[in-house]
Amino acid sequence: MPKDDELLQALQEALLGLRTVLNNVGAYVYTKDKQGRYTFANELVCQLFGVPLEEIVGQDDSKFFDLEISRELQINDRRVLDFGEVIEKEELNIIKPSGETRVYWTVKAPIRDASGEVIGMGGISTDITERKRLESELLVKQQLLDTILNNVEAYVYMKNKDRRFLYVNHQTARVLGLPAEEIIGRRDEEVMAKDIADKLWALDKMVFDSGIKQSGEESFADPNGVLRHYWTIKTPIYLPDQPDSLIGFSTDITELHELKEVLESQAHYDSLTGVSNRRRFFMLAESEFSRAQRYAQPLSVMMIDIDYFKRVNDTYGHKTGDLLLKAVATHCMQNIRESDTLGRLGGEEFAILMPNTRLEEAVKLAHRLCKSFHKISVVTDQAAELKPTASIGVTALATQDTNFDSVLERADQAMYLAKANGRNQVCQLTDGLHG
Ligand code: GH3
Ligand code: MG
Ligand code: MG
Repeated sequence: MPKDDELLQALQEALLGLRTVLNNVGAYVYTKDKQGRYTFANELVCQLFGVPLEEIVGQDDSKFFDLEISRELQINDRRVLDFGEVIEKEELNIIKPSGETRVYWTVKAPIRDASGEVIGMGGISTDITERKRLESELLVKQQLLDTILNNVEAYVYMKNKDRRFLYVNHQTARVLGLPAEEIIGRRDEEVMAKDIADKLWALDKMVFDSGIKQSGEESFADPNGVLRHYWTIKTPIYLPDQPDSLIGFSTDITELHELKEVLESQAHYDSLTGVSNRRRFFMLAESEFSRAQRYAQPLSVMMIDIDYFKRVNDTYGHKTGDLLLKAVATHCMQNIRESDTLGRLGGEEFAILMPNTRLEEAVKLAHRLCKSFHKISVVTDQAAELKPTASIGVTALATQDTNFDSVLERADQAMYLAKANGRNQVCQLTDGLHG
């Protein structure tokens, strides 16, 4: 019967085609009869069980799996075979020959005859062991990262170009006073004051504009109004769904910042009186000297030395001497112009640098200052009232001066003249001659 032959051949070819598909589908494909015995298994199943198909067909799972541990497998099969359920879920199988545990994503469905009666089942299981392993590895890494990020003494956050937060660690959430869930997805100015948000955006913008890491100091008031300083590093980060993003790390350096300011101040200002120290005074004096010479502008200098200061120390103690030095400095500061600089050059020696001031004006100021010294009053522990006086020398930049030192030297000479003349007075010198 050629017709039947043709049909048979067509059928065989169709079966062969189907088998090829099933063997190459990358999943475990099998069918079982109502009793749970294999009626078909593709090549992957054969490889897994380590036996040819003939040795699988007719056997149930007890031959291949450790059913004590793989009980779920049997229960799922029974649900399909007895109740006609379709099951889609993860299955854990322990392979008998190797003893290894594998995880599958399994779909099991009943096979019915023409009358709808369940006569067996078909299953497709995809091995997701590797994916599960990666997932759990990822989970461990995620937990590790979360633990680090939430316990590190730094503010860590991610933002995108729309100024929206993509991530904040606990510290950041705490300083913003909101739970992380309420910050993520919102724009910076929605979760902090606009002026602060704009300030922080400055560095963000530099990262987005340059495409490279930026670092700098950021300062703003905390929720209690206390100004705090942060050292911040912001790096561009290319997330698949957020290509224009950055990750920021900010550490609170308020204490360090304050220390830096103290050190800077110590480098330039006298710690006792708060006026410019010798170093700052000379720095300014030299630049004013150059400027005055370049633009042919006047420049005057005054040396002030407190009279008989040693006696104060000797009689009332060093502490009282210090109080008097402070009072003298304060008094001088109150009597000079904004553009003048008062410096403490030594123990009880002060100098005033007066840019754009002619000698006559400087001498006038010196007299005024000298006379007003009686207004300074320091009351000692012994209730004695100290009334200091000072000897003052004044000079101005002259044509022969090649550096500031020679000007100061002349002011010093003038001051010694005032001492020699009986103290509590002003002397001036021009061009090394008595004025
Ligand atoms: P004269 O009228 O000649 O200027 O006499 P004087 O005593 O003011 O000058 P002298 O140079 O003999 O003494 C200056 C004193 O200033 C000596 C020193 O112990 C004191 N002195 C220097 N630095 C300080 C300081 O920081 N605090 C105090 N309390 N005294 C200081
Ligand atoms: Mg003195
Ligand atoms: Mg002195």
